[in-house]
Formats: sequence, structure tokens, C-alpha cells
Amino acid sequence: MSDSWNKRTKLVHGGTRRSQYNEVSEAIFLTQGFVYDTAEQAEQRFLKSGDDEFIYARYGNPTVAMFENRIAALEGTEDAFATASGMAAVNGALMSGLKAGDHVVAAKALFGSCLYILEDILVRFGVEVTLVDGTDLDEWRDAIREDTKLVFFESVSNPTLEVIDIKSVSELAHAVGALVVVDNVFSTPVYSRAVELGADVIVYSATKHIDGQGRALGGVILGSKEFIRGTVEPYLKHTGAAMSPFSAWIMLKGLETIDLRVRAQAESALKIAEALQGHPKLDRVIFPGLKDHAQYDLTVAQMEKGGTVLSVEVKGGQEACFRFLNAIQIAVISNNLGDAKSIATHPATTTHQRLPAEQKVDLGITPGLVRFSVGLEDADDLIADLMQALDQA
Ligand SMILES: *Cc1c(COP(=O)(O)O)cnc(C)c1O
Repeated sequence: MSDSWNKRTKLVHGGTRRSQYNEVSEAIFLTQGFVYDTAEQAEQRFLKSGDDEFIYARYGNPTVAMFENRIAALEGTEDAFATASGMAAVNGALMSGLKAGDHVVAAKALFGSCLYILEDILVRFGVEVTLVDGTDLDEWRDAIREDTKLVFFESVSNPTLEVIDIKSVSELAHAVGALVVVDNVFSTPVYSRAVELGADVIVYSATKHIDGQGRALGGVILGSKEFIRGTVEPYLKHTGAAMSPFSAWIMLKGLETIDLRVRAQAESALKIAEALQGHPKLDRVIFPGLKDHAQYDLTVAQMEKGGTVLSVEVKGGQEACFRFLNAIQIAVISNNLGDAKSIATHPATTTHQRLPAEQKVDLGITPGLVRFSVGLEDADDLIADLMQALDQA
């Protein structure tokens, strides 16, 4: 692979390792272990294994390595570590380097499980966590202290789609030597410029756009060789959240088409958001690619497009909202996103159900809020369907 290749070329050829058979499509090395020629070779490999030498699939596997190398080439980081799920990646990125007494600053608008790691798990292990309004740079500035070790945020928050300024927050964090960890799912690897903007560590749930067809769970942590091999790998290889070779193969093949898929989905998302704007049955249409979004300029600068997910607030609370959801014919009611199939989610009663009522209000997760992940269906069909469903709300 050449570093000078553009993204689309790297997505198809990056990280490829061919076996002695010279297969065209990447092989699935569905093996848990590897055979050594001699006892001495086994000893040597445990002492120090080279790039193309494997020991045990919990530590690494050729198919998993292909996925790691391909996504690292796309994102522009030195290295990557693939995990069993997106949450294993978030947990690994946070837990591997933190210890009791450390201070973490994070945005408060997060995916429910990310919030659980910060508010429940880290705190239980003696890490001090300060949550801020991620869109307010003054709050970041006030919260980040001399002894802050790490900052964490979703570059676009779930489900209210606030866009966080990666560059400015990274500058504030780096001024005190804190590590910047970004959960970049909603930006997608296609529109990510996180490295260039200053993020040190980037995390994806591969379950979302990387697979893109709702088949497998997966995650990945991207960063410097030192962080991935020195901090993340020891933690993950001993705690066990390894990606399976089969899932790695799905993700690897997903990367070949991700650019085409995500660009098509983002184009449809904008078209749908524009069509729904001002609809009499809706209080709000939230989409970072709409000019009236509070961080529209930042969105364009940071990720070019508004992404593939929009949220709407249906008038009339949960009852009207459920009537709308139940009347939708094309999109499915589910909780994944980034899928080829459009998916409608009611965060207040599903993904964010466990949050106390006042926290939901604070985060804008109202009874009328619907998150809509735009798939690969015809945009005009999706619009017509949403319009008829709104008529029934
Ligand atoms: C889905 C998601 C995760 C968790 O990923 P899983 O693969 O479901 O474990 C983490 N962060 C964000 C922003 C997500 O959307």
C-alpha cells in the first residue's frame, strides 16, 4: 500500500495480506492459534513477535490485523486495535490508561453506555469525572485542570446531534497534557478529520457504518503506535474483548464500500431533513447539515457534511410520537444506526431509558424525540413514507 493513495484506494487495498494461495478476496483466518516450527520459535515469539507473526487470536489474528491496518490507513493514525464491540473500544480507550485519582472531563451528551462507563464504572474505581456541556468551550476551559488526564466526547452527540469542536477542545486539553479521546461514530470514518484537528485517540463502533449492513458487532481504537501497543494492547489482550476473525472480515469488506454508502446516506439525510423542516406536526428537525443548526459552520469545517442521522421532535409527546413511529412503513423500529436499512429509534424509552427524567430533559431527550438513521433506500420513498406517517401522528 502507498501512503500517497487517496482514501477510496486505501479502503479497497489497504492492509491486504495474501496467503500462499494469492486469493483476491481477503481470507478469513478462523483460527484461535498458530503453530510454531520449533520450541525455540515459540519462545522467541512470546518474547517479541513481529508484524506478521501471531500467537493467539486474543492478541491478534491476520484477518483482524488486515481490518486494523485498513482502518488506520483511512483514519491516518499509526496503529489500531480492533475490539468485540464499540463499547469494548470505548472501555478499552478509557480504562487502559486511567487509574484511581485521575481526573477526566467529558461531554455530558453521550450514548447511554458511554455515560455509564464515565458516571458509574470510572467513578467506582476512583477516577474523578467532570461532565460539561460539550458545545460550550467556556465549560471545557473551566473544567480542564492542570491534573486532567483525559478528555472524552462524541464528535457529534447521540441523539441530539450537537457537534463538538474537536480542534478547540483538543487545544485546551493539550495545554495541560491531557489525552483527547473522541468517539467518532456519527462523523463516520468517511467524514473524519479528527487526527488533523488534534484528537489523539479515535474510537468507532464498527457495528454502525463500517459494517453498514447490520450483521456484526465490532469496534476499533485508533491512535499512535505507542498508545495502541503500549497502553491499549496490554489491557485488551489480557481482558479479552478481541474482535472475532469472522467479524473482522465483515468489517474489512464493509470498508471497501463505506465511502459510497455513507456519501449516499448523507445526501439522503440532508434531503429528508430539508423536506421535514417546518412540518406542522414537528417542533424541531435537528440535522447538523441544516443551515439553522447551531453548529452548522463547525459541521462544514469539521466534517464537510451533516452525517447520516437526523432527529425530529414530534408535537404531542410520546403518544403522538408512537403513532408516527408505528405508521412508518419503510424504516424499521430498531436501535442500530448507519445501516443500509433506515432505522427509527425512540431514545427516551430505549437507548436512554435508564436515565433519570431530569437528566433526559437536560439532554433534550424528550418524549417526542425520534432519531432517524438514513439508509440506502430511495430518498423520495423515505420522504413520502415519513410524510404519511406524520399525517397519522
Ligand atoms: C453504538 C455506539 C456505541 C457502542 O457501540 P456497540 O458496537 O453497540 O458496542 C458507542 N458510541 C456511539 C456514539 C454509538 O453510537
